[in-house]
Amino acid sequence: MQQHNNLINGQWTAGQTAAPNINPSDLSDVIGEYAQGNAADVDTAVAAAAAAFPAWSTSGIQARSDALDKIGTEILARKEELGDLLAREEGKTRAEGIGEVARAGQIFKFFAGECLRLSGETLPSVRPGIGVEITREPIGVVGLITPWNFPIAIPAWKIAPALAFGNCVVLKPADLVPGSAWALADIIHRSGIPAGVFNLVMGPGRVIGEALVQHPGIAAISFTGSVGVGRGIAAACAQNGKKVQLEMGGKNPQVVLDDADLTQAVELSAQSCFYSTGQRCTASSRLIVTDKIYPAFIEALQARMAKIKVGDARAAGTDIGPVVSQTQLEQDLSYVEIAKAEGAVLAAGGGRVACHTGSGKEGFYMQPALLVDSTAGMRINREEVFGPVASVIRVRDYEEALLVANDTEFGLSAGIATTSLKYATHFKRHSQAGMVMVNLPTAGVDYHVPFGGRKGSSYGPREQGRYAQEFYTTVKTAYTLA
Ligand code: NDP
Repeated sequence: MQQHNNLINGQWTAGQTAAPNINPSDLSDVIGEYAQGNAADVDTAVAAAAAAFPAWSTSGIQARSDALDKIGTEILARKEELGDLLAREEGKTRAEGIGEVARAGQIFKFFAGECLRLSGETLPSVRPGIGVEITREPIGVVGLITPWNFPIAIPAWKIAPALAFGNCVVLKPADLVPGSAWALADIIHRSGIPAGVFNLVMGPGRVIGEALVQHPGIAAISFTGSVGVGRGIAAACAQNGKKVQLEMGGKNPQVVLDDADLTQAVELSAQSCFYSTGQRCTASSRLIVTDKIYPAFIEALQARMAKIKVGDARAAGTDIGPVVSQTQLEQDLSYVEIAKAEGAVLAAGGGRVACHTGSGKEGFYMQPALLVDSTAGMRINREEVFGPVASVIRVRDYEEALLVANDTEFGLSAGIATTSLKYATHFKRHSQAGMVMVNLPTAGVDYHVPFGGRKGSSYGPREQGRYAQEFYTTVKTAYTLA
């Protein structure tokens, strides 16, 4: 069994223990053993990053750009192999895995350019004879804590801007899927960046994550994950004076209006509710459908769902892979029961199933669930499930649809299916989400533009694109007497 160690100060370092990485498509398949670090490993990694910071932060933009470009080139060259690993450990299909790896490579390439474009401002002072310069500088050592559902893209979209703008990094990936993060660390390590600039410490969130959040040597924490953990991190960072950025859950609405193109509305709803096993923070889970189109929409969506093949993530013909873990599967199934107990009606799927493609081995397979006759106040429409489970709310008209869409503590992504320019325009302006989609699935975003939400979904500056500099730099205002 291959052992995978932590990367601390440029050295592969064994943990106190190791944990197996299990394939959710085939529970007998152990991908490898991955180190489990402890708080002392975090201390060593933060010290190494702090020691590397003075040289890295002043290394010059060409050196940093070249390093990021090299990392991006290798990721892209190995997208098939790494995409297969990603599908094997996380359970999204091989095609989705390859797509995610390619995205990670593109992100590194993008930030290779961004570090050359970092600019400032020069202003006259209100006091004659003085000049004012506003510049951006790196913040120091950043702690990055990432979830299991995008095991390479989310680490990439935090690591690349952190390094581009001259920071040093300690990454703690999700314990459930350390393989992709380890492969990324290996690529970064071999790119030739100096020891200590990038460190990987694997292990449980309650140990490694908390040690990072509490560590006095960490200047900032960027976290993606659940609301509960995120809020605890924000409170601790406020207490310790750390900069913090949180991307958390969603309960994303997909509005379907009477005037929608039915085929298009059904396809984008199926895609955003169920593909990637519904395990995307931008997946839609609330379908808000107006009266006249409602019967035809439900019938067509049921027919579309009947064609979905649930099976081994890496097998040909699989549309939807397994749920990531036993715990997540139990949560998904329990929400179907909660919804039924509250009066919703199960119109399709909803149970654990056998593997329909590939090896036929035991895995965490679930048939996507559609719940109809649900109302906005039900738990199924208020709490994030994070699985292939969608509920439908029937509404009178656009005005009611907008009210219901915004009636949530979350605000990550929201979609509308309509042929009306009037409603599309109004929805783009009045949706209380950070990202709005017109005639597109709520999931599926670009890497060169800001990503993030409002209300309970996000906290702090946006990630990705040009906007990433807001979190990964600090502003300095300098005055010079002419
Ligand atoms: P968790 O919040 O459970 O975990 C996220 C990360 O935090 C993991 O690395 C985890 O480690 C770590 N962690 C756990 N406990 C602590 C702690 N006490 N202190 C510090 N770190 C800790 O989320 P999941 O991994 O289950 O991911 C699913 C969630 O992520 C969903 O709610 C989803 O909506 C959200 N998400 C949000 C996105 C967005 O951009 N808005 C994108 C993708 C996902 P460990 O794995 O060891 O437990």
